[in-house]
This record gives sequence, C-alpha cells and structure tokens, in this order.
Amino acid sequence: MERRRFDVVIVGAGPAGLMAAAHLPAGVKAIVLEKGTRPGRKLLISGSGQCNLTAVEDIAEFERHYGRNGRWLRPALRNFTNRDLVLFFERRGVPCLCTAEGKYFPASLRAADILDALRSGLRRTGMLLQGDRPVERIVPVERWLVIQAGGDTYETRAVVVATGGKSYPQTGSTGDGQRLAAALGHTIVPLRPALAPVVPVRHPLAPLAGNSCEDAGLTVWRGGRKVHAAQGAMLITHTGFSGPLILDAARYLAPDDILRISFMTVPRDRFLRDIVAEVRGRGAVSVKSMLKGAALTKNLREALIRQAGVDPDGRAADLSRDRLAALADAFCAFPVTVRSLGGFETAMATAGGVSLDEVDPKTMMSKIVPGLFFAGEVLDIDGDTGGYNLQAAFSTGALAGRSIKI
Ligand SMILES: Cc1cc2nc3c(=O)[nH]c(=O)nc-3n(C[C@H](O)[C@H](O)[C@H](O)COP(=O)(O)OP(=O)(O)OC[C@H]3O[C@@H](n4cnc5c(N)ncnc54)[C@H](O)[C@@H]3O)c2cc1C
Repeated sequence: MERRRFDVVIVGAGPAGLMAAAHLPAGVKAIVLEKGTRPGRKLLISGSGQCNLTAVEDIAEFERHYGRNGRWLRPALRNFTNRDLVLFFERRGVPCLCTAEGKYFPASLRAADILDALRSGLRRTGMLLQGDRPVERIVPVERWLVIQAGGDTYETRAVVVATGGKSYPQTGSTGDGQRLAAALGHTIVPLRPALAPVVPVRHPLAPLAGNSCEDAGLTVWRGGRKVHAAQGAMLITHTGFSGPLILDAARYLAPDDILRISFMTVPRDRFLRDIVAEVRGRGAVSVKSMLKGAALTKNLREALIRQAGVDPDGRAADLSRDRLAALADAFCAFPVTVRSLGGFETAMATAGGVSLDEVDPKTMMSKIVPGLFFAGEVLDIDGDTGGYNLQAAFSTGALAGRSIKI
C-alpha cells in the first residue's frame, strides 16, 4: 500500500480529465487516476469511432444546445471555444475536417487520433497516467485532499473529478464521481438517461426499422399542452424511434407523453389541402401513386397509408373527407405514446449530476470543498448530438486545469 503526494490528482481519463491535464500550469506534479485499464474508452466509440468533437457554429450559439443549463457553461465555452479545440488538436498533428452539416471530426475519421494526441501530451509533460485505480474516497484533511484508490493513498492540494456520467457503463462511467461528490456534501441532481431513443407503447412501424427521414418534425404533448417542438433527422428502429431529432428531444420527454411525428416538411393543413386538390385533379390514380411525391421510401409511404386505414392500391377519388384527414395525420402528425426512454445502456449521455449551483462556473471549483474541481459529464450538463457533449467536456476540463494555481 503506497502513500504518494502530488500537486494535482485528476480522477478519470476521459476527454474532460485528459484536457484538464493538458491545461495544468507548467511544472506541476500531477497524476491521472483511471478506473479502467485503458483511458478514453467512451471517446474511442464517440461518433461511431469517428469522434464528432465539436460543431462549427459561433460559440455564442452553443448555449442553446444544453437545455436550461447552457447559460452556466458560458465562461467555460468562451475560455476554450470550438475554434480553440480544433486548433488544439491541429497543433498536435491531428488535422480536422468540417462536414457540410457543420460537424468537426479528425480528418482521419479516427477517434483514436484524438485520444493519442491527448495521451502524448501527458507523456511530453512527464505527467503520470495510472490505470486500474478506481477512486473510492476523497477526504479533506486540514489543507490536503486525501484520496483512496485501488488500495493506494494519494495526498494532494487539488483534485479534478472527471469521472463522466452513467451511460454506456461498460466504458467506465458508472456514476462514481457523483457518489464521491455527494459524500463531500454536494447536491446531486438525479441521474437520468439523455440522448436516449424512445420506446413507444405501440410500434406499428417496427417492420420498417432502418428507415430514416432526414427532415422530420416533432411536437411533444403533455396533458393536452405542447411542451416541445423540433425538426431534424429521425430513424425508425426495431424498438422505437431514434436519430438526432429524437435523441436531442429525450431530455424533454417523460412516459405517457404524446409525440406527433411529421414525416413531411409541409405543415399538416397544407398537406391536406394539397391532397384534396390532387384528388380533384387526378382522382383516377391510386392512393400510393398520388403520394409518390412524398420523399420517403416506398415501404414507409405505404405503411403510413395503411396506418390511416386506407388501401394504397385503392382509387384516390374514392377517399372520404375523413380518410383524407387520416392520411394527413399519418404523414404529418403520426401519434406515438411514449412508454419509456432507452436506459443507460443505450443513452449516449447522462442528464443530472453534480448540481451547478455548488460549482463556480468561472473556475469549475466546488463552492463547498476548496481545491475540489469538476469537469465533464459528472456535472449536471447534457448537450445535443453534433459534438456538443465533447465540447462541454473539453471546455470544462480546460477551464478546470487552467484554474488550478499551485
Ligand atoms: C456511443 C456514444 C457516442 C458518442 N458520440 C459522441 C460524439 O460523437 N460527439 C460528442 O460530442 N459526444 C459524444 N458522446 C458523448 C461523449 O462521449 C461524452 O459526453 C464524453 O465522453 C464525456 O466525457 P467525460 O470525460 O466527462 O466522461 P467519460 O468519457 O465518461 O470519461 C470518464 C472516465 O472516468 C473514469 N472513471 C469513472 N469512475 C472512476 C473512478 N471512480 N476512478 C477513476 N476513474 C474513473 C472512466 O473509466 C472514464 O475513463 C457519445 C457517447 C456515447 C456513449
């Protein structure tokens, strides 16, 4: 059993912890303690292994991608912006590319290159990275913070807790940091899956799993009131609905909410007007021919027609007013009742975490325990898909690292 002294201990070798390490003042004696045998396991699978590290839009626009907590992130995002992030990696030999949708990736499309750049930075500065060291306890003792990890004891002046959230637990993030913070007196906003797919009560579109709609619309209804509306790409899966539109909306959803999904870009009333005009103009054609213009796969189009109680091969001219309205509902306001959201095994992020009221947004330091810092998903921060979670992890990590004065 060892007892070692460091200026700084970083708990967790994910993007937030490794970025904090990269921004520590020169010459500090620091160690990164990682629970698993390898660092950055979630980073390696991010963006399907390609790592969508940030987005191109102006940093001032980022805040709206983190729900009600975006404002709190402002100092961290301004201190280490998306441009700073891209430059950081380019200067370390990882050129980045920006897609037409405004997403940044390493040009190699290999998340491993991002991780390698962070690791080689540690090696260059002589900083230690110790695997197999799950931190179990952090105890303030006079002016020191004493850390128990894997049978060893570490004493330090400053600790950065960067242990992530609770999603994809096989990558190492299992809510440890929130437990450590709670034991030190911090309030924890209950953890829930974010960026999670929707499991509906009934899923008549299950046979169409794999079909996607690039520009779908979504409204969310609770107790007869509209509580959320959004537009974006959506995917039908075997168990329900996913894709950026659904994942980003997950933080606003609860069981029993009614979703109205639009597979069309035109509003329902306009769609109805258009098909009524079509029926008058060329009613001799079949319903499926009339709706051929809808930019959906043939299978999805015909399934939606059947969902409206209409025979795709029947004559459009025979459609009653009711059936035309049912078609407009199926294509532009398809009803889905939420049974549940996918659990932590499928969610790409965690909502909830260390309460932001108790952390200084200008330094990432705890307002309760001096010398204790937080960075990344351990905090009550969850962003939209598109690089916003990694930017938050990198920005909060950089700010925590820069704020530590030894
Ligand atoms: C499948 C998937 C794809 C994703 N794709 C993207 C994407 O393309 N773009 C994007 O912006 N975001 C993406 N995300 C989200 C993003 O990966 C996370 O938000 C980000 O990794 C959070 O970084 P972090 O450093 O806070 O936590 P993590 O990456 O979770 O790292 C935490 C680290 O702490 C370690 N740890 C935990 N407990 C302890 C302990 N007690 N002691 C020591 N170490 C501990 C863990 O083992 C882990 O290595 C994706 C997530 C998933 C699951």
